[in-house]
Amino acid sequence: MKVVVQVKLLPSPEAAAALAATLHACNRAADRASAVAYETGTKSRNNLQKLVYADLKADFGLGAQPAVRTVKKVVDAYATLRAHIGAGNLGPVGAKRRVQAESKPIVFRADAAQPYDDRILSWQHDAATVSLWTVAGRLRGVRFVGHPGQLKTIRECRKGETDLVHRDGMWFLTAVCEVPEEPLSEPVDWIGVDRGIVNLATASDGSNYQGRRLSRYRRRHAAKRAELQARRTRSATRRAKRRAKNEARHAAHVNHEISKEIVAVAQRTGRGIALEELRGIRDRVRPSRDQRATLSSWPFHQLEEHIRYKAQRHGVPVLAVDAAYTSQMCPRCGHTARNNRPSRDLFPCRRCGLAGPADHVAGVNVRNRARSAWVLANGPVPQGT
Ligand SMILES: [Zn+2]
Repeated sequence: MKVVVQVKLLPSPEAAAALAATLHACNRAADRASAVAYETGTKSRNNLQKLVYADLKADFGLGAQPAVRTVKKVVDAYATLRAHIGAGNLGPVGAKRRVQAESKPIVFRADAAQPYDDRILSWQHDAATVSLWTVAGRLRGVRFVGHPGQLKTIRECRKGETDLVHRDGMWFLTAVCEVPEEPLSEPVDWIGVDRGIVNLATASDGSNYQGRRLSRYRRRHAAKRAELQARRTRSATRRAKRRAKNEARHAAHVNHEISKEIVAVAQRTGRGIALEELRGIRDRVRPSRDQRATLSSWPFHQLEEHIRYKAQRHGVPVLAVDAAYTSQMCPRCGHTARNNRPSRDLFPCRRCGLAGPADHVAGVNVRNRARSAWVLANGPVPQGT
């Protein structure tokens, strides 16, 4: 499977200046190629290259290989835009966003990421340095750092393009790696995962991930951000943006930890992971007003992606099940009613009396649905079909 691994570069001030000049030159060149692609309606990489290759080299100081990469970057950007439009992400024909996107060439940020290939970027793993092309000549011995696992992945599995990225004043390389997967194991059972507001994830064995403390953290941040936004001054807006960024980073970290834990438990116990189909989450829970903001801002989709990705790497099967009534159905007698769930936390079955924490009960329902779905999909084929 493809994964993207990031390392941080530690360039000297002079080297950093050369990198910055390189991104600027490449993105101005990309703008030129983009304008030509837009005016001539050229979609193919070869054709666009014929039209702009000489100019990119002569006018922007790009070498042969950087010019080729820049053309590809432009062609890819238009392909992505067409895919977004095709998928309806920018609205129907005539929608303002869509008209805006279609009425002018794509423009690249001055420090947008630039793709490199092995001819213009080489790795010295033992020394933890790279050597790469810049408009100021080849830079050698630029140090990089990263987590040991990431460094190992890059050393052993790197394949294809690497992007030079400038973000928040720091320099990174993001490398595409092709990581071997473990074969999918036949699960002995399932862990049902209920994703909710207070507990982001509750497993069918009762363990839950990130409860009230995180909830408080998120409420506090949401309040602080609302307060800053209400001020409408430039510095308040800037601080609100920075806060939003920090929250997003924190959320990504939490999602990473939760998914790591769930996948580790599943792998250790030979079980698969059952998730509710995501679109169910918002309909099912009826958040109180102050929770609504927190819920819509929590990246549940990212949590699911993390779980799927880690599970795939470790050969753990993942199944999405129908989320309807998982919070109102009694897993023992099947009685389904809204008043089985009188409050967010409690589940007392009105018919048979089974009682427990509501999140846990929902997790059990998710697990049970996965059990029957798996048997249906993998059981013996009925005769006559
Ligand atoms: Zn019951």
